[in-house]
Amino acid sequence: MTLQRPASVTDAFLQALVSRVPSTSGGTWKLTEVYTGEVLVELPQSTPADIEQAFATSRKVQQEWAAWPLRKRLDVFKRAHALFIENATTTTDLIQVESGKNRRMAIEESCDPPMVMSHYIKRAPKLLASTKRGGPVPFLSSSTEIRQPKGVVGVIAPWNFPFATGLSDAVTALIAGNGVVLKPDNKTALSPLYGISMLEEAGLPKGLFQVVCGEGPDVGPTLIDNSNYVMFTGSTNTGRVIGERAGRNLIGCCLELGGKNPMIVLEDADMEDTVQGAVFGVFGNTGQICMHIERIYLPESRYDEFKTKFVAAAESLRVGASYDFEPEMGSLVSPDHKDRVQSHVEDAVAKGATVLTGGKARPDLGPAFFEPTILEGVTKDMLTGTMETFGPVVALHKYHTVDEAVALANDTDYGLNASVWGGDLKAASEVGQRIESGNVNINDILATAFASKGTPSGGVKQSGVGARHGDQGLTKYTDVQNLAVLKKQVMGARPGQDYDKYVKSMLSGLKMMRKTGLR
Ligand code: NAD
Repeated sequence: MTLQRPASVTDAFLQALVSRVPSTSGGTWKLTEVYTGEVLVELPQSTPADIEQAFATSRKVQQEWAAWPLRKRLDVFKRAHALFIENATTTTDLIQVESGKNRRMAIEESCDPPMVMSHYIKRAPKLLASTKRGGPVPFLSSSTEIRQPKGVVGVIAPWNFPFATGLSDAVTALIAGNGVVLKPDNKTALSPLYGISMLEEAGLPKGLFQVVCGEGPDVGPTLIDNSNYVMFTGSTNTGRVIGERAGRNLIGCCLELGGKNPMIVLEDADMEDTVQGAVFGVFGNTGQICMHIERIYLPESRYDEFKTKFVAAAESLRVGASYDFEPEMGSLVSPDHKDRVQSHVEDAVAKGATVLTGGKARPDLGPAFFEPTILEGVTKDMLTGTMETFGPVVALHKYHTVDEAVALANDTDYGLNASVWGGDLKAASEVGQRIESGNVNINDILATAFASKGTPSGGVKQSGVGARHGDQGLTKYTDVQNLAVLKKQVMGARPGQDYDKYVKSMLSGLKMMRKTGLR
């Protein structure tokens, strides 16, 4: 049976989307439909000169954008919020064709940028307002903290949540008054391009938000060298390269990187909820969520019960290539990525791990499908023992004491997300606080932390630097200017003044200010 593409995905529509990408060389990259491997569109590839021009254009428009009153800027995002929701079906179609994820996950992803916009529409007026503070001389001086936009922010996004990571961070930078140059992954450039067209329909000045495309190492250096700040989401290895270059240029960067996320099940956990949670945590987005679960730690007393139920749940998952809401798990993003996931499973098996279910590719479903896979007996000498596999693959482990479970959970270079399940929420939260992780979810996998847009979300250890969401998610895109005013020049000794007297009066002034609480 041939797969019918979503009606919105016409050649003319795709052509119009990619026409926004600059390419003076005429070079293109074949962007394919994941479920079939068929070419959808030739994606233009940007040269270093194209990237420089994109920055120059954005920088010019940014000068005017930053001068708009904040209220007027936020009106754009109020209209965009409505448009993003109105057009969620088309967004979902594009996310699905380019990433191969199942439709349930694709529509959830389409909701992330509106959630972020909604949060900062409310919060930005407070966060970006100037704050007047007292100066060193009471009554005669003042200092005002002013938030200035950085300029043009380079945003580099991965393929696993192209719409969310491509747009949610970018709209936050725009709200702060910046321009943006986005580099999406070649595989998944369509949905962010569509998002930008919606932002412009909502009134975002044309030229402010630019997109450049190309392979990372080709585009990266010019992009970083022209950015005033870099927001990167992707693997830890690439994050290191980006961070080094940003450091050399003395610009700030936020790095949201990989994970090897643990789930700890406590003795008193509700088994039905825990199994259901694990199914999402391991197989949601086909295991390609940075915050997904790759290691599950169970008390001996509950191990067999969990194993039986979890394996049965994995085996009953509906896996398939379809543009409706039927499949519970979709494809991996590409045949190359499927090969990587398969190599991790084969390596584990060769070194003694047991496959409880799954373990194989499913070419009958599409070129990049892989079965929901549960392993037992995984050790640290196996690839999947320490590295991020980033597929629908998990290892089950037994623990004897909670201390041991915490130590095992922390026995990794990563620290992005962790999940703890237990009936006693206080006890589970105490365990959660002992895990070295930027995000910890109690009785949930990741959504509670990630959807709490008011709280910063980022990784520790090798999982990242900085955070998105929360107050710092917006203020990181600004520089603080300290505007200080002295009403009358009273500081410093006057010409001819007795310096001993001057020092005495200065020191007694300091004492007086401390006592009266003035400074
Ligand atoms: P990746 O690091 O290979 O690529 C990410 C982006 O960086 C892509 O656009 C890529 O083209 C670009 N890139 C690659 N090399 C570059 C270079 N030298 N200079 C500039 N850009 C370069 O990662 P990936 O495989 O696309 O994505 C999966 C990874 O992303 C996983 O490790 C996952 O955990 C991580 N991730 C993290 C988060 C988070 O919020 N922490 C979210 C999503 C994904």
